Amino acid sequence: MEKKFEKKMISGWGGFPNKLTKIFYPTSISEILEEIKYGELIARGNGRAYGDSAINQNKTINMKYFNKIISFDDHSGTLVTESGVLLQQILNNFIIKGWFPFVTPGSKFLTVGGLIAADVHGKNHHKEGSFGNFVEWLDLIKHDGKIIRCSKNENKELFEWTIGGMGLTGIIIRAAIRLRPIETCWIKQKTIVSKDLDQTLEILENNMGATYSVAWINSTNTGKNIGQSLIMLGEHALLNDLNKKYSYDPLKLKLKKNKNVPFYFPNWFLDKKLVKFFNYFYYFFGKNSSKEKLVYWDDYFYPLDTVLGWNKIYGRQGFVQYQCVLPLENSKEGLIELLKEIDKSNVSSFLSVLKRFGDQISNFSFPMKGYTIALDFPANQNTLNLLEKLDEITLKYKGRFYLAKDARMKKEIFKRSDYRVEKFVDYRKKNNFNKCFISSQSSRLKL
Ligand SMILES: Cc1cc2nc3c(=O)[nH]c(=O)nc-3n(C[C@H](O)[C@H](O)[C@H](O)COP(=O)(O)OP(=O)(O)OC[C@H]3O[C@@H](n4cnc5c(N)ncnc54)[C@H](O)[C@@H]3O)c2cc1C
Repeated sequence: MEKKFEKKMISGWGGFPNKLTKIFYPTSISEILEEIKYGELIARGNGRAYGDSAINQNKTINMKYFNKIISFDDHSGTLVTESGVLLQQILNNFIIKGWFPFVTPGSKFLTVGGLIAADVHGKNHHKEGSFGNFVEWLDLIKHDGKIIRCSKNENKELFEWTIGGMGLTGIIIRAAIRLRPIETCWIKQKTIVSKDLDQTLEILENNMGATYSVAWINSTNTGKNIGQSLIMLGEHALLNDLNKKYSYDPLKLKLKKNKNVPFYFPNWFLDKKLVKFFNYFYYFFGKNSSKEKLVYWDDYFYPLDTVLGWNKIYGRQGFVQYQCVLPLENSKEGLIELLKEIDKSNVSSFLSVLKRFGDQISNFSFPMKGYTIALDFPANQNTLNLLEKLDEITLKYKGRFYLAKDARMKKEIFKRSDYRVEKFVDYRKKNNFNKCFISSQSSRLKL
């Protein structure tokens, strides 16, 4: 077992910013209660939020030893787990029994606590909403050391601020979440090629009935083909959809050996030319590859997880992901302006993903009806200058920002983007949460 305390520099998945903190690895609730007495801290799951939301420079509470699956009801599909359980652990245990999460983000190396605190979305938000929709209840340690069960019926207000509350209302210790039944572990994937943004949006709108949809955008093509994309639709395959070979054992997990990036690439590696080249080839090969096929669940949902430590290709200076959502009525104009602004700058986005969000009414979660774009840039001064311009464009089109990806936003920008910020700040103050649960991000944004 690791040491109980460790003083070290840590970051989120983007590797930027790095902060010195004292990490505490509790193994019991009483150990957490002891720490809460001494003030300022924040919970940390697997550190896969990109920026500084899971770091407190005084004390960061790493929940990795809260890793037990507690119970499962195979009638309702309700799973009770400790909050440090990884999504990967749930998938490995429950796919073979015919169950899958209702909502999954693009990585399985995330904890249940992190999934709830960021109220994550998947490729099915347009149809099924965010992760919080499938949380039945959660147990939270508050600043006063009380452990409170919250749900839609019990301590509702606290429940609703905790989902999407980025760890700023307390420490989630366990939760009950609902899984969906599946007949097979295969996804029927259909790839549609679009030549520009008009077509991309039209295809996504026409496929609102698809369970999963996502567009990979070639963000380096900003001429007449601006918004050129490959759109991937997906459905859980039924037994009838499988050929004889797979239908023999339709929920069988494959033994896979992940690749690993063994060292940090030089900071200059992903320059504008190389990113343009990569995007051109990705589009070219995607365009010509099979349009409809059965894809193994891991390859469909978590392609990035197959290369461990892929964040090292950005070099030691790290990278930042920019993710905003624009209201439906402004999406097209806003997206065009964002892509053109990026084109004018000295940096390009290596990976750019567009998703359609459906309706969502929530206290502090990120999604709202419209289009969300996620863009990856190397962390350098050119990027930071560019992102300030992208912030203004997002505000101009009445969009908002995803805290799970943020590493550098200014507090004024965040406040202007979302009328709910003030309510969240008031709620934290009224309940004294602001004296205890503090992250580097919440200090920067004055939450
Ligand atoms: C490759 C990749 C793909 C991703 N794709 C998506 C995607 O498609 N959709 C999406 O929505 N997100 C996506 N994300 C972001 C990710 O889902 C969130 O950042 C998630 O919160 C990370 O979980 P974690 O366990 O690593 O939490 P951390 O990064 O450790 O923490 C994130 C936040 O959760 C809080 N938290 C963690 N544990 C607890 C707890 N026990 N109690 C209270 N608060 C807690 C922290 O304080 C912090 O504010 C992706 C991230 C990566 C690296």
